[in-house]
Amino acid sequence: VAEDLVGHDVAMIRADNPGPFTLSGTNTWVVGRDPAFVVDPGPALAGHVAAVVDEVERRGGVGGIALTHDHDDHAGALRELRRRTGDPPVAAAAGGAAGAARLADGQAFGPFTAYATPGHAPDHLAFVAGDACFTGDAVLGQGSVFIAPDTGAMSAYLRGLRRLRSLPLALLCPGHGPLVPDPAAKLDEYITHRLDRECRLLDALARGLRSEADLLDAVWDDAPAVLRPATTATLRAHLDKLREDGRLPRGAGESAGGRTRTA
Ligand SMILES: [Zn+2]
Repeated sequence: VAEDLVGHDVAMIRADNPGPFTLSGTNTWVVGRDPAFVVDPGPALAGHVAAVVDEVERRGGVGGIALTHDHDDHAGALRELRRRTGDPPVAAAAGGAAGAARLADGQAFGPFTAYATPGHAPDHLAFVAGDACFTGDAVLGQGSVFIAPDTGAMSAYLRGLRRLRSLPLALLCPGHGPLVPDPAAKLDEYITHRLDRECRLLDALARGLRSEADLLDAVWDDAPAVLRPATTATLRAHLDKLREDGRLPRGAGESAGGRTRTA
C-alpha cells in the first residue's frame, strides 16, 4: 500500500474506529509540507489526534484543514486538531462544521480543487490535488457507500462519480479502506454497481413488489442485517431517482406504517 503513495508526498493515518460503516477505521490524509494540508481530521480519539499532530509537525505545520463532510467519524477531531496546530483555516461545503469557510464546487483551497460529490451526505466534497483525489465517503477503498435519501441525491451522486471518472487521476485516497491505485476501474465499478441495483429494483417493481421490506429483500438480499438501515436509505434514494426519471410505479416504497418519505 505504501508504495502507491511514493511520489505523492501524502501520508495516511487510520483512526482506531473500525465498524460496519467505517470499515477498518477512518482515514485522515496529510498532504504536502511546509505547510501540510489535512483532509478529514477523523474521529475525536486522543491517540488519533496525537498521530495526526505528530505527522503535521514533521511536515512543517498545518496550512489548512479540508472536510469532505461533517459526519463525526471525519470531523469529530476538528476542534482539537485546530487547537493543537495553531488554529489553521478550515474549508468545507455549505453544511460543514462551525468556523469553516464555505467551499463551492470548483473552488481552490491550498493544493486542492473541490468537487461537489453529494449522495452519502448532501454537502459532500471530494478534493483533487495533482492526480490524487481525496474521496471521503463518495468512494471507499472497498464495498459501497450508503446514499442519504435527499431529493435528487442519487442522480447527483452518479453525476459526481462520472465527473471524477473524466479526470486524469492516478490515485484515490478514500475516507475508509485501502488506497485505490486504479481510479478509473474503481469509479466504473461504483457507477456499474448503482446502475445494477437500479436494474434489479426495476425488475422487482415489474414483478409487482411494492413495499420497502419486499424490495429490500429482493434487491439487497446480499446485505448483512446490520446494514439494513443504510440499505433502506439507499433504496429510498433509488426510488427517488426513479420518480425523477418518471419510472416509479404507483404505490412503490410503502411500508407497514403507510407512505414512507422518499422525497
Ligand atoms: Zn465515514
